[in-house]
Formats: sequence, C-alpha cells, structure tokens
Amino acid sequence: MYAGAKAVFYALSRSATLKRLASKYGMRSGDSFARRFIAGETVEEAIETSRHVQSQGLHLTLDYLGESVRTSQEADAATREYVRLLDVIVASGIERNISLKLTQLGAGIDRATCVDNLRRILEPAGRHGFFVRIDMENSPWTQLTLDIFETLWQQEYRSVGIALQAALHRTEHDVQRMNELGARVRVVKGAYKEPETVAYQRKADVDTAFLRLMHLLLDSGNYPAIATHDPAMIEETKSYAQQRGIGKDRFEFQMLYGIRRDLQEELGREGYGMRLYIPFGREWFPYFMRRLGERPANLGFVVRGIVREQ
Ligand SMILES: Cc1cc2nc3c(=O)[nH]c(=O)nc-3n(C[C@H](O)[C@H](O)[C@H](O)COP(=O)(O)OP(=O)(O)OC[C@H]3O[C@@H](n4cnc5c(N)ncnc54)[C@H](O)[C@@H]3O)c2cc1C
Repeated sequence: MYAGAKAVFYALSRSATLKRLASKYGMRSGDSFARRFIAGETVEEAIETSRHVQSQGLHLTLDYLGESVRTSQEADAATREYVRLLDVIVASGIERNISLKLTQLGAGIDRATCVDNLRRILEPAGRHGFFVRIDMENSPWTQLTLDIFETLWQQEYRSVGIALQAALHRTEHDVQRMNELGARVRVVKGAYKEPETVAYQRKADVDTAFLRLMHLLLDSGNYPAIATHDPAMIEETKSYAQQRGIGKDRFEFQMLYGIRRDLQEELGREGYGMRLYIPFGREWFPYFMRRLGERPANLGFVVRGIVREQ
C-alpha cells in the first residue's frame, strides 16, 4: 500500500485532464480544497499566511511552487520570480527563509544554467540574511542536486542547506558527507515513488533509516531539521536529544503547511523550533498530488470539494 498509493498518485499527477479539473476548482475560493495545503496562488496570499504562522510562534520557509521546467526561458522566469520574492519578503518583514527546487531553475536543461540561476538567487539572499534550502527531488536528480550544492558551497555560499531522503539507500553516506562539510540538512522520508534498486519500499524500512539518519544528524550535524509529521519519529527525536543532552536550540522540527496542525502547535508550545513549509504559486498541482499520495484518505475532501463547487 505504501509504495502502491504513491505510484497511483504519481500516475494521476501526470494526467492533463485531472490537472485541468483540479486547477479549475482547487483554489477558486477561500475554502477550496487545495487551500488546505497551499497558501495561495499569489505572493501576497503567501505573506498573509506567513504572518499568521509567525503570530503563533512558528517559523516558516516559503516555497514558490514549480518544477521540471523545460526551457531556459522558463528557468529564467522562475529565477526572476524568486529574486522578486526575496524583495517582497524583505519589505514584508517576515522571516527570511525560502525553499526551492533545482529542476525549477533549469537542472533539466543543463547544469551551468542551473548553477548560474541558483547563484542569481543566493547572491541577494546572502546579502539580506536569508537561509535557502534546496529541496530534494526524485532520484534521477539526487547526484546532480548534491553536485550543484557542493559547487556553490565550495564557492563560499554558506547560507544554503539541502534536503535528504531516508527512503534512498545512499543517504547515510550523503548525510556523513554533509556533516563533514558542516552543511545544514533537512531529513525527510521521501515523497517520490522510487525503484527498489535505489530505495526502500516498505514503510518500516524507511522509518528505521529515518531514525538512523536522525541520530547521525543530532550527533554530528549542523542544526539539522527533522521534517516529518510522524508522531513516532518525533517522539524518538525528542527522547534521543534528551538522552544525549542535545538542547532544543541545536535542531528544529519541520512540517508542511496544513498537515498535523495539532502537532505543530504542541511542539511549538513545548519550546521546540517548529518550521512550516509554506508553498504558494500557480503550479501547485504536482505538489498537491504528492500530498494526496502520502495519505489517500485526503482524496475524500477533494471529491467533496469538487462536488460542492459544481
Ligand atoms: C518541511 C518538509 C519538507 C519536505 N521536503 C521534501 C523534499 O525536499 N523532498 C522530498 O522528497 N520530500 C520532502 N518532504 C515530504 C516527505 O518526504 C514526506 O513525503 C512527507 O513528509 C510525509 O512523510 P512523514 O514523515 O510525514 O510520514 P508518513 O509516514 O508519511 O506519515 C506519518 C503521519 O503523518 C500524517 N501525514 C503525513 N502525510 C500526510 C498528508 N499528506 N496529509 C495528512 N496527514 C499526513 C499522518 O498522520 C500520518 O500517519 C518534506 C516534508 C516536510 C515536512
């Protein structure tokens, strides 16, 4: 079921008809179904959501949605949007933290374009005191993402971190490398359907790997982000940190906007750093479908939403 649901929703995420249908209804009004996971289609809506999140004592990272662009013009447009986003964030006074995907900046076109575009974002981001997190996409992009990350790291861009996925067999090695560099890692289970040659297929195996990586990161990482909604992973993290005398200021939890708000608030109240990943933008469909794939029960509220909007 674990890998099966992801595969079905991955296939559906490529359906043009479904995309048209979802795009028509998903964000149409204030309570349309996609708004549960996506802050809005405009940067203004994202800022408003961010203010609300901050007022609850939580931290945030803003993600301008988009991925897999096909032309250098599209990659350039996405880069310009990100640069504009930095200005809007600075002007708004909210926390300076963004997340981005390299296929949005042209990783699929050629490496040099992507490195240039990333640098165009990291330059002003560094000047204005932002932290920039590079999300991890599916496994064909893992090595390239890490290579580009290290290229910029070696060029002294240091306000940048990476996400690594527990589902992949290779990740323990990658975590060790990032710990050696002193780079900040966000550990996640992994949102993509991956082949068994590269990834664990059973939830229990992914969970075991996640805990092993959490240990490595708490022991020798640089302010790691433990990004999960899974209460078992969160409890293990808290107790490992307590046993080892690792203070609450040495790591943070992260969750996705709209998922397990109860747990988000609880961790915030307990004094843990709790950062929400807040996605916005018109290209929300693939992100939204990954969230459904993680929890097919969510399909119920989508169907109810479409019926209600008819
Ligand atoms: C801040 C953040 C950033 C991320 N960045 C990346 C990235 O760069 N690359 C990447 O591959 N993945 C990323 N992910 C997604 C991640 O890989 C998982 O797919 C996702 O977090 C679900 O796994 P889980 O750890 O919450 O555990 P699961 O075992 O999937 O779920 C545990 C529990 O969490 C709740 N839950 C989980 N998902 C949902 C949902 N969609 N709707 C409602 N409840 C849910 C349920 O209660 C469930 O029982 C990110 C996740 C977070 C929180």
